[in-house]
Amino acid sequence: MLKGRTEVAPGLAIFRFELAREMPFKAGQHATLWLTHGGRTVPRPYSIASSPRNSKMLEFYINLVSEGQMTLSLWDHEILLALETRQPGTSVEFTGPKGRFMLDPADERDLVFVASGTGLAPFMSMIRSLDEEGAAAPAGTRPRRVCIVHGASLPVYLGYHQELSTLMHDSLRHPARRLAVTYLPTVSRPHLDSAWGGLKGRAEYLLEDPGDAPRSALPKLEDCVRGLLLTMLRPETHVVYACGHPGTVDNVVRILSERGFQADRDIKREEYYP
Ligand SMILES: Cc1cc2nc3c(=O)[nH]c(=O)nc-3n(C[C@H](O)[C@H](O)[C@H](O)COP(=O)(O)OP(=O)(O)OC[C@H]3O[C@@H](n4cnc5c(N)ncnc54)[C@H](O)[C@@H]3O)c2cc1C
Repeated sequence: MLKGRTEVAPGLAIFRFELAREMPFKAGQHATLWLTHGGRTVPRPYSIASSPRNSKMLEFYINLVSEGQMTLSLWDHEILLALETRQPGTSVEFTGPKGRFMLDPADERDLVFVASGTGLAPFMSMIRSLDEEGAAAPAGTRPRRVCIVHGASLPVYLGYHQELSTLMHDSLRHPARRLAVTYLPTVSRPHLDSAWGGLKGRAEYLLEDPGDAPRSALPKLEDCVRGLLLTMLRPETHVVYACGHPGTVDNVVRILSERGFQADRDIKREEYYP
């Protein structure tokens, strides 16, 4: 049953569904949503954004795809009302969980999450789950360090911005906290929003070598971050997860492969469409 829907921006929303039965899952996995309306059933996979702690209430972060069968229905007010009020003939079912895009509990390396758009969803589940585990861990447990790079076309499409910013500020204010989050939101069409003063460019761009900046000029913010990531990221100390747009995922794998990261061992990937 649809329990809630938060519009992040036009064509981008967070959906919360209550399940009839528990569906235990691991952070990073996806479920298949089966939507029935007007005698037709459409199934599509969606990464679960909520923490595995509550396996009866699932959260999803979904964007509207033009002419998309499922997403047009999820943006149809008549269908949404029918789901909320449980009208006969309109329903959602979930099957799963599925997928191996998960954290390896035996891997203690620091985590780098690279997401484009709604590719952030599995990372929200992972971060929330790590935060809960950290809060329950005994004092003296080594903090888990997570760097999250989230790319969106415009600032308004940076969903979960507030939650991730708060986590980062808490990490800075409380160094003893057992989850240390560095949040790097970046916008690929900054010219369309002159108020944006943050990082510019696609998510994968931040992993590229900044090259030689002109010596006279002050380095750009992006070049500072790129230089920092270039110096810090090593397959011995970091494991990288990339999710979302297939182009972003391919670019992350290509850029990091050139630096000695090996696919599967050091880079884990999840693509949303071919
Ligand atoms: C493992 C997995 C997890 C996923 N998790 C999420 C998630 O958390 N959030 C989310 O929003 N989507 C997610 N997706 C994508 C989702 O399953 C659907 O493909 C998407 O919602 C479009 O479905 P649709 O029925 O509206 O479009 P369709 O009718 O299936 O597709 C219409 C056209 O749009 C193209 N297309 C499909 N998806 C996109 C897209 N995102 N952007 C641009 N073009 C597209 C298709 O190739 C097709 O040509 C995931 C996919 C996979 C494989």
